[in-house]
Amino acid sequence: MDAHQRQFRNPFSMDADCTNCEALCAAREQVVHGYGDVGAEFLFVGEAPSADAERTGVPFTGDEAGERVQRILGELGFSRSDPDDEEPDVQNVFLTYLTRCRHPERGPTENEISTCEPFLNAEIRMINPHIIVPVGQAALEALAFDYTTRSVDSFDIEVEHATTIRGRGFELVPMMDPAEQTDADTEAFVEHVRESVFARDYRQTKGRRSR
Ligand code: SF4
Repeated sequence: MDAHQRQFRNPFSMDADCTNCEALCAAREQVVHGYGDVGAEFLFVGEAPSADAERTGVPFTGDEAGERVQRILGELGFSRSDPDDEEPDVQNVFLTYLTRCRHPERGPTENEISTCEPFLNAEIRMINPHIIVPVGQAALEALAFDYTTRSVDSFDIEVEHATTIRGRGFELVPMMDPAEQTDADTEAFVEHVRESVFARDYRQTKGRRSR
């Protein structure tokens, strides 16, 4: 964590009582804003909190799928915690969502995703990561729309999983929904990041400081 950062949870003090989406406000237990290192080079973006992430208040924690993500973070050197830690000690990674409120019976609508987008855009602007990891089809489509020149319809998470897409300002390294990954999918993602991202100078394009 940056020496000036006081907390991993919602470090930018975003509105924890946001009421911009009426249906989600009525259904949610709590808003789950981003979590992690504000100086991160890697940003993981999912669609919306799972029931257990809503309970813990920390993205990608609290259930089997979250543990899979936390295991990946550990294998890549982004976390020093056990995969079942609900408040992991992370470095160089930030975890967040397209929409920060969960509806128990459905995924977010397009309108809710666009209503919540200013929070994500603000995090991206403040963190200025090098690599964005869209987690799942909805996150891939939303980020591909914003940061690539390809048609959104051409993106299929199962095809793009564990690859690098050169975007405008960022590189996207998509990952399938962890709840749908096999161990082989998980291994392919870890191997791609180690061998095709860490092994080259992914910082080159932005001229940021070395870490
Ligand atoms: S999903 Fe985002 S914009 Fe909508 S109420 Fe929750 S925090 Fe606010």
